[in-house]
Amino acid sequence: MEFEPVIGLEIHAQVATASKLFCGCSTEFGRPPNTNTCPVCLGLPGALPVTNRRVIELAVRLGLATHCTIRLDSQFARKNYFYPDLPKAYQISQYDRPLCENGWLEIVVDGNTKRIGITRIHLEEDAGKLVHEGRDAGASYVDLNRAGVPLVEIVSEPDLSTAEEARVYMEKMHALVTYLGVSRGNMEQGNLRADANVSLRPVGESKLGTRTETKNLNSFRFVRDAIDHEIGRQAGELRAGGRIVQETRLYDSVSKTTSPMRSKEEANDYRYFPEPDLPVLRLEQAWVDAIRDGLPELPDAKAARYREQYALSAKDAEALTAGREIAGFFEAVLEGGASPKRAANWIMGDLSARFNEDKIGPDGLKFGPEALAEMLVMIESGALSGKMGKEVFEEMVATGKPPAKIVAEKGLQQVSDAGELAAIVAKVLEDSPEQVEQFKAGKEKVLGYFVGQVMKATGGQANPGVVNTILRDKLAG
Ligand code: ADP
Ligand code: MG
Ligand code: ZN
Repeated sequence: MEFEPVIGLEIHAQVATASKLFCGCSTEFGRPPNTNTCPVCLGLPGALPVTNRRVIELAVRLGLATHCTIRLDSQFARKNYFYPDLPKAYQISQYDRPLCENGWLEIVVDGNTKRIGITRIHLEEDAGKLVHEGRDAGASYVDLNRAGVPLVEIVSEPDLSTAEEARVYMEKMHALVTYLGVSRGNMEQGNLRADANVSLRPVGESKLGTRTETKNLNSFRFVRDAIDHEIGRQAGELRAGGRIVQETRLYDSVSKTTSPMRSKEEANDYRYFPEPDLPVLRLEQAWVDAIRDGLPELPDAKAARYREQYALSAKDAEALTAGREIAGFFEAVLEGGASPKRAANWIMGDLSARFNEDKIGPDGLKFGPEALAEMLVMIESGALSGKMGKEVFEEMVATGKPPAKIVAEKGLQQVSDAGELAAIVAKVLEDSPEQVEQFKAGKEKVLGYFVGQVMKATGGQANPGVVNTILRDKLAG
């Protein structure tokens, strides 16, 4: 029997605020254990939560950017469970009245655009962390610095059909939350992690199969590999006549396999109820509208504009708009007078290679977009050859010197002046009567020899295009 995978992702993103969701404690990463704590996030009796307004604002921003409906009277709820990293024995989350609902995000896979539904985006607090290395070998330690850190949970519809689609969706969501400033998206610090729900069903069947949920995937590759493994495992199970147990699984990135963690809990196991210490979260429509008005041009809209306005390919447009800095840099290069295609090629090529190698973004460069534009304009005007451009670029990267200065210092100016070159060409032809005869006898290849001689005479600075035209002109005459 043929099976098709059905996949839904739950992505947790840490909201980029300096303080926690319900108290004033710092969210700074890497502080000594339990120093970012207070009675509220330690769960001491009698301590009351107060909601961080900035978290709501950022979550609404994300909801609007993903075409969600924003609920004006959402509610926090207690999700009850016991674990040593959860001092209150409940997590404040949202349940039946989440902040954002019914949105979507479009992804591009193999050149095809697919719309992935977003069921809901709700707010919740993070738990603490258990540490198993410490003074006592056999002991476990609890660090509550993370307890109460604000998260948005973004729940997708089961609209994803392959592990690759899931990877692309997560990458796109990562790009969006960082673009909007909703999350720093720092994966090494656990700012973004996904739970992957996977099931199989016979092709043509519309009813969903039993799913497993693989927890805490904190890299794009892990998401893809864990889902791929899970699809293979479930298919093997079903083909052998077995059935899938609904359960929570863990992914091991070394063996690239998943293994059971616990049987899946049902919502009623958590005994959700409205959080009595917090009032209904009432938002004013005018406030939501103001947030909508404050949204920047979104990556998809920007990419569409780049394709339209600058005739860029879908691939270039998508890449240039994935981050706000890179898009801003590109547009500033255009303002400096460079042509869109050339600017895109240099940014996606030489510059991106630099960014990847040095692990920097545009603001880590020693020169600004106007300097790159100046250099590209020199290439476009013929003052520099493409090869000279690369040399100038390397020097700009290393020293940050302005291109004009580098050109002057290195004597790189390309000679395009027709009068000047005509004189040199004439001299070369005069000195090579033999080759001129050969050319006239039909040996076109000698042209390369002449160009070479002109280059030699100008120290490599002659514009080869102009030289070619002059040569043909003179030899024809
Ligand atoms: P829970 O919070 O218990 O994990 P939800 O109903 O909120 O349950 O679903 C969570 C995620 O699982 C969603 O992303 C949803 O799209 C996905 N999902 C639900 N049912 C299936 C299924 N049968 N196969 C694959 N994904 C599923
Ligand atoms: Mg879940
Ligand atoms: Zn606190």
